[in-house]
Amino acid sequence: MKKLAKEDNWFKQNEKVMIEQAARTRERRILEAAAKREQEELDRLRTEHWMKCPKCGHNMETTILEDIEVENCTFCKGVYFDRSEIEALLLRRTSQRFSFYRSFFGLD
Ligand SMILES: [Zn+2]
Repeated sequence: MKKLAKEDNWFKQNEKVMIEQAARTRERRILEAAAKREQEELDRLRTEHWMKCPKCGHNMETTILEDIEVENCTFCKGVYFDRSEIEALLLRRTSQRFSFYRSFFGLD
C-alpha cells in the first residue's frame, strides 16, 4: 500500500472521532466564553450599583443605628438592611426593638 493510501485510510477511520472532538472543544469554548461574559456583566453591575440607592440611584452611606449597621440613601433618605442586619434587629428583645424604632424614626 502506498503511503498516501495509508494516510487516506487513517483519516477515513479517524475522521468521525476528530470531528466529534473538535465539536466538543468548540462547544466547551463557547460555554466558557458565555460564562466569562456573564461573570464580567455581573462584575460590571456590582461595581456600577455598589452602594447606590435602589430607589433613586444616589450614593448610600453606612451608619450605625442602635449597634446595627444600616445603609442610608444620602438623597431620598431611604434606609436599607442586609439580611443579617434585619435578623439581628428581630432577635432583640421587645424593649430594645422599641428603642431601635424610636431612633430609626427620629423620635428620640
Ligand atoms: Zn435614594
